[in-house]
Amino acid sequence: MEKKAAVFLDRDGVLCVEKGYVTQIQDLEIFPYAKQCIQELHKKDYLAICVTNQSAVARGMMSEDTLIAINEYLMQELNLDAVYYCPHYPVGIGKYARDCNCRKPKTGMLDAAIETYGIDIASSYMVGDRLSDIICGQKAGLKTVLLKSGYEVKGLELQAEPYDIYRNLKEFLLNI
Ligand SMILES: [Zn+2]
Repeated sequence: MEKKAAVFLDRDGVLCVEKGYVTQIQDLEIFPYAKQCIQELHKKDYLAICVTNQSAVARGMMSEDTLIAINEYLMQELNLDAVYYCPHYPVGIGKYARDCNCRKPKTGMLDAAIETYGIDIASSYMVGDRLSDIICGQKAGLKTVLLKSGYEVKGLELQAEPYDIYRNLKEFLLNI
């Protein structure tokens, strides 16, 4: 089987407005250009896979079922190929209180997707707005892209030396 290229996308600050914790569908504010960007990624033959830390579940702010509903909505709205999420946090409630392997900057979500979809690492990207996204992408061997459309870029993100820096997903699409 020929390996496919993928663009891994953080959620908040990349596909939708960074708002701290989004705990209900109504609060999810998808960027107006996001759908077209995913369409263009597909035209260029990339899989579009969202990888998101959602510790609000471990923090008891939202149920995992609600998160799954939000993910399904996001997937349908944007026609994403998959959404991977980490509901954990080391200091959390019940089964979610875990020092897991999936919370970015750990690479568990990327590793799982790479295996499931047969992804060619060298031609794939990790796109995010935080240091944890950049480090995670680098550890997995992906090209990393830092966007300024979410969490404030303070300098640490730049020290990590992302492969590219753009204003938002739209600008990334012009350069891929
Ligand atoms: Zn996790």
